[in-house]
Amino acid sequence: MGNAIKKIGVLTSGGDAPGMNAAIRAIVRTCSYHDVMCVGIFRGFQGLVEGDFEVLGPRDVNYIINKGGTILKTARCNEFKTPEGRRAAYENLKKAEIDALIIIGGDGSFTGGMFLSKEYDIPIMGIPGTIDNDIHGTSHTIGFDTALNTVVDAVDKIRDTASSHKRLFFVEVMGRDAGHIALNAGIGAGAEEILIPEENMGMERLLESLKKSKKSGKSSSIVIVAEGERLGKNVFELGEYVEENLPEYEVRVSVLGHMQRGGAPSCFDRVLASRLSVKAVETLLEGKRNYMVGLINDQVALTPLTKAVKGHAPIDQELLRVSDIITI
Ligand code: ADP
Repeated sequence: MGNAIKKIGVLTSGGDAPGMNAAIRAIVRTCSYHDVMCVGIFRGFQGLVEGDFEVLGPRDVNYIINKGGTILKTARCNEFKTPEGRRAAYENLKKAEIDALIIIGGDGSFTGGMFLSKEYDIPIMGIPGTIDNDIHGTSHTIGFDTALNTVVDAVDKIRDTASSHKRLFFVEVMGRDAGHIALNAGIGAGAEEILIPEENMGMERLLESLKKSKKSGKSSSIVIVAEGERLGKNVFELGEYVEENLPEYEVRVSVLGHMQRGGAPSCFDRVLASRLSVKAVETLLEGKRNYMVGLINDQVALTPLTKAVKGHAPIDQELLRVSDIITI
């Protein structure tokens, strides 16, 4: 591939997600395959502003495909939100002779990258890495599938104790703005109710539904609640409210928290990370820039970054219907 790009920088930014290491590995090796140098940038944009760089070769990324987290570390960097911070980042890129940048992260990180690209004419590529699956231009983000498996595994265990004690469990899962984890894991774990920010069920309907569920012979129940659920109560207040209004239920609350971000990536996430990363490097080498690589209808596809950061990743209405039907 004839092109001007001889050195590509890669960083992970924003929230970490399982599968980011598989992406780093694939980027480093695709660069090597095409005879291009790859530079790892540590701690996201913070490392870019500080010049915390290290050249990576194919053997530097041995044994990381199976590891959660990110070997490059990640960070949130306020300095990068300022023109001075981005100037420092650009100076470091220039000094290291890095011609293009691959950003593995969420839409905040892509927005930061677009500023840099606009101000200093640096070609960038985005790879969606977040457990929330809330990025337009891809059916799956890297880390989502692993997080779903983690949640389903945890809820299976909670169900064992819930059914032994005939309890109602409210289980809070991650997803401040999007209910993708709650909806998918809720269906997979057989939850009786799924509360997501996109669908405000209302307290009355929740109580009615739980009453109905009890009447129909269910002795224990699991309600999956997305962090960003908009009933106006946090998960503990929700539990108290239901216990006050439905004394027939013994309520418990479990917040899964950061365990949802960790763990070995699933095979799906490893394969996804590998596919998107090969495409990201090769797209840059073809002379294209400022795209996000994603999966659309099971095919690797490019979406302009401007569209990826503006668009929404709506909740799948078919999944909502499936959930309504099978929780009867
Ligand atoms: P995510 O990429 O997971 O959405 P954040 O929204 O926290 O995570 O963004 C990660 C980093 O990207 C921020 O700490 C900041 O350095 C950079 N960033 C986010 N938004 C902007 C912006 N509007 N301008 C410049 N940089 C930004």
